[in-house]
Amino acid sequence: MAENVHKWYASNKFHVLRGVSLNVYRGEVVVIMGPSGSGKSTFIRTFNALEEYQQGRIEIDGIELSHDLRNIDAIRKEVGMVFQQFNLFPHLTVLDNVTLAPIWVRRWAKKRAEEVAMQLLEKVGILEQARKYPGQLSGGQQQRVAIARALAMQPKIMLFDEPTSALDPEMVREVLDVMRSLAQSGITMVVVTHEVGFAREVADRIVLMDGGVIVEEATPQEFFQNPKEERTQKFLSQIL
Ligand code: ATP
Ligand code: MG
Repeated sequence: MAENVHKWYASNKFHVLRGVSLNVYRGEVVVIMGPSGSGKSTFIRTFNALEEYQQGRIEIDGIELSHDLRNIDAIRKEVGMVFQQFNLFPHLTVLDNVTLAPIWVRRWAKKRAEEVAMQLLEKVGILEQARKYPGQLSGGQQQRVAIARALAMQPKIMLFDEPTSALDPEMVREVLDVMRSLAQSGITMVVVTHEVGFAREVADRIVLMDGGVIVEEATPQEFFQNPKEERTQKFLSQIL
């Protein structure tokens, strides 16, 4: 839950988030769309304290994301994040990438972490790659490792920031399929994406951001067929 969040970038005092409020309910899939530079990445990065914000409130599963470091740690355990550039550890095997956080942050025994990791790798369809290094995998496979790694912490919510934008077209599908099945399994998800098909089929709600504010919030049907705001209509005319 975000309430009236404002953020200024310290380096250039740029007022990037100008009062953003968004409730995400348990089990819901919210897709965020919007033009480049509208603040989408900045906004979802505030959800796990990768970005600070200066005004407003963010609360995840009852924990307020304040400047209290204990809360930040607690929230990071509950929020999984998948980036455009997979951000895997290149010197660790796929399996070690997935078990690292559960072992060091959750303090799981190695054996337990590996069992869970293998189940997740199977779920995202790359079990046979477990002993390889990220550099030996395709982009789509690497992104599926990144999804498994985030899931390994058993997060309450998963954030995706344009997870398919860096992929060759033939690999986009395999990643979207994994995300679709996650959505069906009931995981709460916030997804920044330009994939219209995914948004239409999987989102419970679509949010359009522009200029650091939420311009429109609607069901996929309303959003694509009958958008209320002129800015949404203009945005859709550019992407459809
Ligand atoms: P895209 O679709 O291109 O990923 P976005 O909606 O995710 O765009 P952000 O990356 O959140 O947009 O950036 C929003 C605005 O904030 C942009 O104008 C950007 O130039 C600015 N910005 C982003 N990061 C910083 C930073 N570290 N310091 C200063 N300004 C920044
Ligand atoms: Mg972005």
